[in-house]
Amino acid sequence: MSAAAHDSLKGKRVVALCGGVGGAKLAFGLARKLGSDLTVVVNTGDDFEHLGLQICPDIDTVLYTLSGLANRVLGWGRADESWNFMEALADLGGEKWFNLGDRDLALHVERTHLLRAGMTLTEFTARAAQRFGIKSRILPMCDDAVRTVLETSIGVLPFQRYFVEYRCGPRVEKIFFYGADSAAASPAVLSELQNTELAAIVICPSNPYLSVDPILATPGIRQALENTPVPVVAVSPIIGGKAVKGPTAKIMEELGIEVTSSAIADHYSGLIDGLVVDAADAGDANSIDIPVHAVPTLMSSDEDRERLAGDVLDFAMRLVASGSQRQARAS
Ligand code: GDP
Repeated sequence: MSAAAHDSLKGKRVVALCGGVGGAKLAFGLARKLGSDLTVVVNTGDDFEHLGLQICPDIDTVLYTLSGLANRVLGWGRADESWNFMEALADLGGEKWFNLGDRDLALHVERTHLLRAGMTLTEFTARAAQRFGIKSRILPMCDDAVRTVLETSIGVLPFQRYFVEYRCGPRVEKIFFYGADSAAASPAVLSELQNTELAAIVICPSNPYLSVDPILATPGIRQALENTPVPVVAVSPIIGGKAVKGPTAKIMEELGIEVTSSAIADHYSGLIDGLVVDAADAGDANSIDIPVHAVPTLMSSDEDRERLAGDVLDFAMRLVASGSQRQARAS
């Protein structure tokens, strides 16, 4: 991060909107730069109940990634994992389609137990983050159930059935966020987004359709982004016409959307003031009518994550200095 951005951010807060694996990588970099000045607002549209347990895949990915407990080989779950529970469950003829490692299981059991005792998901997540030694604030987008459901070529599928059981195979026709209309806004999220100390909002390079849209569909959040005086900057999850991982590109094709960073800019139109694209896609800037910052965005190492986080924060602070934030959203 430049000295100028460092100075502008002193004593200020940054909010990052984040899904699972892709988003958590940038959140890790931002957390390294900002520590307790960062709030990560996480998608809970993927949450579901399985075997009587409340499972929050994106929150857990963010908790494990920011605490350094993530399993980098598998790309999900915890490191140093063992699988005795799944083996014993299989012996009993139990459901095997969703893998739960032994250590990971402890988080789901404890969360389910405390939610049933009356704790909110916001409170439990804060407690888990503190136990894991995470300084940044991690907030579920909402305490009420908002659930991502997909209309596909083989019928209507809840998110985890589509993602894990069917491995994103069925063609996606439409995406819904059940419960979003009637959910209560999260007071903690809204107060972070309206905090007078806020300096920038970052949309991480998460799947825009499955990870970020549920956050934006949650009451109050889209409006907060539209009305905020601070710069809102997104990082494109598309590199060279492909998604780094997961079904983003496949879904874009199925929905008739071009797999480019320009399409990502269009998707967030009216919400963002600037887009960070990969250096390989610098040419896309010509077809994007907001400021574009082209830098390497592939995060293979911790250093990549920190470097990209610094680039994103520099870009956001430059938008403030040039007075170009808000103009893009207003136009
Ligand atoms: P999920 O909920 O676990 O699928 O994770 P996310 O929605 O947060 O992230 C999925 C998106 O992250 C995909 O569209 C990937 O293209 C993107 N992604 C993953 N790693 C990277 C990376 O290193 N750089 C960029 N720019 N995008 C990434």
